[in-house]
Amino acid sequence: MTIKTRFAPSPTGYLHIGGVRTALYSWAFAKHHGGEFLLRIEDTDLERSTAESVQIILQGMDWVGLHADNRDNIVYQTQNFPRYKELIQQLLASGHAYYCYCSKEELAAMREKAEREGTATYDRRWRPEPGKTLPPIPADREPVVRFKNPLDGVTHWHDAVKGDISIPNAALDDLIIARADGTPTYNFCVVVDDFDMGITHVIRGDDHVNNTPKQINIFKALGATPPVYAHLPMILNEQGKKISKRSGDTVAITEFADMGILPEAMLNYLARLGWAHGDDEFFSMEQFVQWFDLKDVSASPSRMDSKKLMWINSEHIKAADNQRLADLVAPRLAKQGISVSGSLKLADVIALVKDRAHDLNALAAECA
Ligand code: GLU
Repeated sequence: MTIKTRFAPSPTGYLHIGGVRTALYSWAFAKHHGGEFLLRIEDTDLERSTAESVQIILQGMDWVGLHADNRDNIVYQTQNFPRYKELIQQLLASGHAYYCYCSKEELAAMREKAEREGTATYDRRWRPEPGKTLPPIPADREPVVRFKNPLDGVTHWHDAVKGDISIPNAALDDLIIARADGTPTYNFCVVVDDFDMGITHVIRGDDHVNNTPKQINIFKALGATPPVYAHLPMILNEQGKKISKRSGDTVAITEFADMGILPEAMLNYLARLGWAHGDDEFFSMEQFVQWFDLKDVSASPSRMDSKKLMWINSEHIKAADNQRLADLVAPRLAKQGISVSGSLKLADVIALVKDRAHDLNALAAECA
C-alpha cells in the first residue's frame, strides 16, 4: 500500500504557520514511508475563497520547499461538483441519504428545543423508517439532502496523535450533504476527495476532530474504508493563548520571510513545535524525514518561542552557502539604498560576519 497524505487548505486568506506545520508533518510522513504528499484546494466556499489566496498558498509552499507530488495536477474542489452530485445520488439510491423539506422556521424551533434538552439538533422528521409515515411534501420547496447517520452505537477511531476517540452516534445529526440548490456541503466533499485521492492518512488540525465521526460514517456508507486520522494540537502564542493575527501574533508565513527567517530554519523550527526526537534541535529536512513518526507528535498544544526560532535561524545562517546568503541579502540592502558592487564581494563580507546575525535583515545590517 502506498501511503498518501494531503494538505487541504481553504484559500480564504494568508498561509498560516499552523497550516505550514500541518503540511510539513503530512509531507514528512508520506516521504518517510516512500509515499505521496498531495495538495487539495478546498475552495467550495465561493464567497470567501479567492484566486489571490490560492496564489499566496502556492507561493508559501514553494518558499518553504514543501512540494506536492501532484504539483501539476492540484485538486480544486470547485472542479469536482459533478462527482459530488453523483455520489449524493448514490447515497440516496442506497438508502443512506434522504430528502428533507423542513422550513427555516421548523429548523429554528428544533434548534431551540435541542438546546433546551441537550439533544441532537435535527429531530429526523423526514428520515424514512419502516412503518413511519412521512409528512406531506410541501409544494414549492426545494429539499436538502441529509445523511442517514447511524442511530445506535458509537463511532470510534484510533487517532494517531490523540489515541482512542469514541463518539456516541446519537449525538450526531443527520447532517445536510446537499443544500436546496444542489451544492454539496463541506464534510461531504472532504470525504469524497479523500476517497477518490486514495488518502491513507489524514493529518490535520484538531479543530476538525468534531467532523471526523461524521466523515467516518459517510465513508462507511460509501462502502469505503476510512483513512487513519491524526489530529494535531494547536499552536499557542508566547502567552499561552491561541495564536491569532487579531492578538497581534505573527502568523502568516510571508511575515516570517520578511523577518529574515530562512525557509529551512522555519521548517526546522516548526518540526520541533509539537514533535521531538530526543534532544535534537538543529537538523536538516532529510534528517527530519528519516526520524518523523506520528507517535512522537505531542498530544498537547505547543507554544511559540521567538527566541528559539531566532537561534535556529542563526544556526542555519551559519550553515548556509555564502553566495546564496549574498543573493538573499542584496535585495535587503538595495531596499535601504545601499548598492553592492558585485555579489561575489558581498559573499566574502558575509563569510566574515554571518556568525553575528540571527536573521537576514540583521545580516544585511552587518554588511552595510
Ligand atoms: N480546509 C480545511 C482547513 O483549511 C482542512 C480540512 C481537512 O484537512 O480535512 O481547515
